[in-house]
Formats: sequence, structure tokens, C-alpha cells
Amino acid sequence: TVSLNLSDAARQQSRHAEQQLNLAYEQQQQLEELRDQFLMSVSHELRTPLTEVRGYINLLLEYGNRLDEATQSSFLQSASYGCDELELIIGNVLNMSRVGKDLKPICMQELPLAATIAEICEHVYLQDHSLELNIDADLTVLADRQQLRQVLRNLISNACKYSPAHTSVVVCASPWEDNMVRFCVKDYGAGIGAADVPHLFQKFSRLKRDIASSVRGTGLGLYISKQFVEGMGGRIWVESEGVPGKGSSFYFTLRQPSTTR
Ligand code: ADP
Repeated sequence: TVSLNLSDAARQQSRHAEQQLNLAYEQQQQLEELRDQFLMSVSHELRTPLTEVRGYINLLLEYGNRLDEATQSSFLQSASYGCDELELIIGNVLNMSRVGKDLKPICMQELPLAATIAEICEHVYLQDHSLELNIDADLTVLADRQQLRQVLRNLISNACKYSPAHTSVVVCASPWEDNMVRFCVKDYGAGIGAADVPHLFQKFSRLKRDIASSVRGTGLGLYISKQFVEGMGGRIWVESEGVPGKGSSFYFTLRQPSTTR
């Protein structure tokens, strides 16, 4: 009868509404889980360098006048590296919340490469690695200084994190096709397998072997670096054979000033 059909339809509608509600609830729960995971990994990331900074400052406060000058200044240097690390992580997290809004470069300017890179490298914690710079002395590049700094610091910091102590990290910059400059950050670590490369620059992406290890990370550095490089008109990619010891080379390009004139 007609009345039966109507109540069937009403029942169906209410079932549908219930399913929609359940789905929304599940999505909300997944989002909350993601947010909790993110906050946990960021807090964990921040806590380690903060503990280091506090440790060195406490040592200086307690024993400062009994330590020789060289030890004092090495403690101060270590505390300062801890601050650099904190700054890098906070920079990535802050920028991550801005993605899609205004990550565009704020101040593109002509930068002398050798001096700029040397200055940036002074503030990267090298963790027992030796840094080799191989920069074309006369090169200039058109870039937002803060963003170039964040990209290079992320790549150099990764090169150190994901390779054994006492290996080298090599930073190069040389002219590239279409009047660009090509930067390279090379390490001699575990390398990255071909299957992992496509995911590497995505938000929160971390290789399985690193999630399981004690190496700290949020999976934001490469994502932010890609946003920055592309915003400045360049491209970023990685080359690696995935062979331990042969390591990885991260490349990115930026324009030379004359192309815009
Ligand atoms: P994280 O904070 O985890 O280092 P990134 O976005 O900088 O985040 O890097 C994403 C993941 O890519 C890392 O967790 C690591 O698994 C891998 N990775 C990045 N750089 C290297 C490298 N130089 N060698 C090997 N693996 C790397």
C-alpha cells in the first residue's frame, strides 16, 4: 500500500542519515588522531634540543668559573646549536600551518651565493660530520633569503641525520640550464630506494626504517622545502641508488637574477 511505501522511504532516509553521521564521526576521529600524532611528534622533536640547551646552560651556571675557556665556549656553542635546531623545527611547523595561504616568497632579492651559503651553514648542527662547500664564487641567485635558508638548513640537517657520523656532507651550487642555479646537498648515508622517492616530499612522509629508528623527525622538512623552492620559481628532486654508503643527492634550482631583467 501507499502508506507502507512511505514508511519504507522514511526508514531508508533515516538509515542514510545515520550512515552519514557515522561517517562524519569516523572522519572527525581520524582527524583528531592525526592532530594528536602531529602534536606528539612535534613536542618530542622540540624536547630533545631543548633538553640539550638546558643541560649546557646548567653546566655553565654550576661549573662555569671552574671550567677553562675552551670548554666554556664549546658548551656555549653546543647550546647555540640546540637553539638553531629548535628554530628550524619551529620554522617548519609554523610554515606548515601557513601552507596554501601565503607561502609565497616575501622578499626576492639578489644574493651573493658563496657568502650567503657560508653564513647559513654556520647555523646548522653538523653532528660530527664534515661539511664541504663547493660554490661557484661569482654566482648570484634570486631568492627570498629566509626561505633559501630554511631549505638549505633542512637538507643539510637531513644529510647529517640520515648518514653515519664522520662522513662528509657536500654542498654545491653551479650554473644550470635556462639561466638557473642548481644546488646540491649530497650525503653518504643509507640512501633512498626508488619506491620511496615519489612520497618523499609529501606532508608527514617518513621512511619506515626511520620511523622505527631513534632518529627524530616530523616529516615536514622536505614538504616545506618543496613549497618554498617552487614558490621561488624552482624545482626540487632527489637522486639516490638506494645503496647504503652511496647516499643521496638532493637538488634544487633557483633563478639567476639576469633572467628577470
Ligand atoms: P624529517 O623531519 O622526518 O627528517 P623530512 O621531510 O625532512 O622530515 O624528511 C622526510 C623523510 O625522508 C625522513 O624522515 C627520512 O626518512 C627521509 N630522508 C630525508 N632526507 C634523507 C637523506 N638525506 N637520506 C635518507 N633519507 C632521507
